[in-house]
Amino acid sequence: MHNTILNQYCSWLSPMSNRILFGTNGIRGIVNEELTPEFVTEVGIAVGTYFNAGNILIGCDSRTSSILFTRSAVSGLASAGCNIYEVGYAPTPAIQFAVKHFKMDGAVIITASHNPPEYNGIKVVAGDGVEIPREEEVKIEETFFKKKFSRRKWNELGKAVSFPGILDVYKEAIKKHIDSEAIREKNFKVVIDPANSVGALVTPYLLRELGCSVITINAQLDGNFPGRLPEPKPKTLGGLAKTVRATGADLGIAHDGDADRCFFVDELGNICLGDKTGTIIIDYILQRFPNSVVVTPISSSRMLEDIVKRRGSELLWTEVGSTMVSKRMKEVNSVIGMEDNGGIFYAPHQPVRDGALASALMLEVLANSNRTLSQMIDQLPKYFIIKERIDCPNERKQKVLEKLLKQTENYRRITVDGVKVFFEDGSVLMRPSGTEAIYRVYVEAKDEERAREIANWGISLVEENL
Ligand code: MG
Repeated sequence: MHNTILNQYCSWLSPMSNRILFGTNGIRGIVNEELTPEFVTEVGIAVGTYFNAGNILIGCDSRTSSILFTRSAVSGLASAGCNIYEVGYAPTPAIQFAVKHFKMDGAVIITASHNPPEYNGIKVVAGDGVEIPREEEVKIEETFFKKKFSRRKWNELGKAVSFPGILDVYKEAIKKHIDSEAIREKNFKVVIDPANSVGALVTPYLLRELGCSVITINAQLDGNFPGRLPEPKPKTLGGLAKTVRATGADLGIAHDGDADRCFFVDELGNICLGDKTGTIIIDYILQRFPNSVVVTPISSSRMLEDIVKRRGSELLWTEVGSTMVSKRMKEVNSVIGMEDNGGIFYAPHQPVRDGALASALMLEVLANSNRTLSQMIDQLPKYFIIKERIDCPNERKQKVLEKLLKQTENYRRITVDGVKVFFEDGSVLMRPSGTEAIYRVYVEAKDEERAREIANWGISLVEENL
């Protein structure tokens, strides 16, 4: 427990201060303010020092600064003796897959994922294709801040070569895990919105090869993100919903900026929450893999627990963050995991979020269920949801958490990240935000009255401890 609390404390310190570079998904910052070419070059040397002159893949999303920072990182990595294989524009999961497939020592991905256009970032991936865990990030941070760089002599520098072709390898790998015939028979019409970024390079081609009739919007690479902001959410997906309705499509698919996540729009043009579509995919996979362990962050809906139990499987709640889900999946040999933000992790392919794989899986679910997505969503367990935020200075978060832990001792609860208390007919998660000076209170219950009752209890518990 002590370690968990300590980790939580670290997570709400702002990155790049207090000798911390990495946030929950790599290094992020505003271009030419926090993230400058010289900063990225030094991070490159630190990462190269960590990989000890290994073979490193590098690729990026479509941001205006991505190619520039790729070159900075390549300089740093080569100066530390690493050989660099440049894949250019590619979805994050394609690079993660290629690292393992081509037996590289690691990868550096220049992307700020779902952040606005003025941001960019750096993800560091280990040889197994998963982002490096916190304890390894600390080693890179120490090298960076103490400047303990392993700069190589002139005749020991790394080489950088271009390494095309990973997108086809990745696409073919996904097909091996998909019931292509079932999808092909349905002649689905699908609209894809990759947010003017790298999802455009794989998902439309993959689905066409699976026999779908594909319509794309926002599919030209453009770091100004003229179509919509790169975070897929109801606010940014109006264009996709409209296009699904206008074209009578069976499904709409939206990716975030590096295409590791996937949001869906049903055939009626409704934008679906990640909890619901993730639960539908997991319900399907559990029929193929009974008695499995499913992994999901504590912020996911309790609806998933109902479905997993109904299938006789087990649900493991983790801290919030995709790397935590991947890590736990590997530890417990889990087949499938999900996040409420549209992340699907399917271990037989790779235990990381994968937007293209999630798209193909959803089509397989629709093909084999003979139902539409809206019909499948209608059949999910129903919960009434209340989300509240309570102002709480960062320096008070820890104290509040300690008191909450004490006060909820006698309830069925999970304390991996904040406190989630379960009742027979509902649940409440009280969790300090990782990025804002607030506590989030997230309630689910069978009806509105009960949800309000539980919310009042959770809110008063946080407030009396402020
Ligand atoms: Mg992403």
